[in-house]
Amino acid sequence: MSAGILVLVEHLKGAVADITFEMLGAARQLAQASQAPVHAVLVGKDVAGLAAQLGAADAVIVVEDAAAELPSTELVLAVLRQLLEQKQAGLVLLGGTNVSFGLGVRLAARAKLPFVNFCKGLRWDNRALVCTSQLFGGKILSDVRLPDGRGVISIYPGSFPADAGKSDKTPPVERLAAPAVQSKVVFRQLLEPAAGDVDITKQRVLVGVGRGIQSRDHVQLAEELAAALGGAVCASRPVIDQGWLPLSRQVGKSGLTVKPRVYLALGISGAPEHWEGMQNSECIIAINTDPRAPIFDGAHFGVVGDVLELLPLLTEKVKARKT
Ligand SMILES: Cc1cc2nc3c(=O)[nH]c(=O)nc-3n(C[C@H](O)[C@H](O)[C@H](O)COP(=O)(O)OP(=O)(O)OC[C@H]3O[C@@H](n4cnc5c(N)ncnc54)[C@H](O)[C@@H]3O)c2cc1C
Repeated sequence: MSAGILVLVEHLKGAVADITFEMLGAARQLAQASQAPVHAVLVGKDVAGLAAQLGAADAVIVVEDAAAELPSTELVLAVLRQLLEQKQAGLVLLGGTNVSFGLGVRLAARAKLPFVNFCKGLRWDNRALVCTSQLFGGKILSDVRLPDGRGVISIYPGSFPADAGKSDKTPPVERLAAPAVQSKVVFRQLLEPAAGDVDITKQRVLVGVGRGIQSRDHVQLAEELAAALGGAVCASRPVIDQGWLPLSRQVGKSGLTVKPRVYLALGISGAPEHWEGMQNSECIIAINTDPRAPIFDGAHFGVVGDVLELLPLLTEKVKARKT
């Protein structure tokens, strides 16, 4: 049997994050070929109840700590290091998210394992694990070979199907006492998006606006189309920087990663930093006045035209269809 796989469970306010299921699905697939056991590692305050959702793992290891409302990096590092030894694990999957950034490199250095960042694909090649990483905002895909399949891998969100990591099975649960750690970082407060704002990562339809929308007043045109389609408006960074929409609507490298059924890119050039955050949308429709705009290289459908002219017409058509 090959060395086991540890998957660090990400959760917030009593809900398991999608990235966890993506990682469990990827781990399951790897385990199929290697026969390695998959352990989900659940660390936090009063988190044991979440274990029931992690049936895709062979076992869930629960580490509860009353002080770990948001577990500190030091605590998670200590837990993972202990488990690497105890479970004779060789592979650790972490989410490439704000929660786990900074964890992977430190774990890899301390455990003397290689670290792979921005991983979007995993496959066995005999005993070697080949990890495909996305570099330079998606311009380059690079294969990194881990000869003995051991390493710490940070998974790029949205790269693996979350459904593959969901199961109705009840996994066995093991408890581990929280190791005593001296953390220099203390959790103080969770800052949430302004009340009443939508979560763009959960929308089926997104109307994305870029600098081509030209003014704050025109954003209303996109709001009307989004309302007609039953979706929400999001934006590229320049629109957010101008203050035309709140930060919670930013898509891209320094914003959120979205994966709606339909993403309308209106007056968005398709810079790698934006593309990175919406490239996994099921259907991308771009409208841009510039036929050479990079967004057209990846969009499924494209219209060369003026968004300010087309937006009201589109809204009218959608409303007419509905009635
Ligand atoms: C470290 C870093 C992080 C970044 N993070 C992000 C991020 O998270 N998200 C993000 O979006 N960007 C991010 N950026 C910025 C990114 O590089 C681009 O500058 C940005 O995405 C461009 O936004 P845009 O497409 O709206 O604007 P532009 O690139 O200026 O494109 C505007 C487009 O609108 C078209 N247009 C103009 N008028 C019309 C019209 N009337 N009708 C139709 N089309 C029209 C133009 O042809 C053009 O293609 C980041 C950059 C860096 C360096």
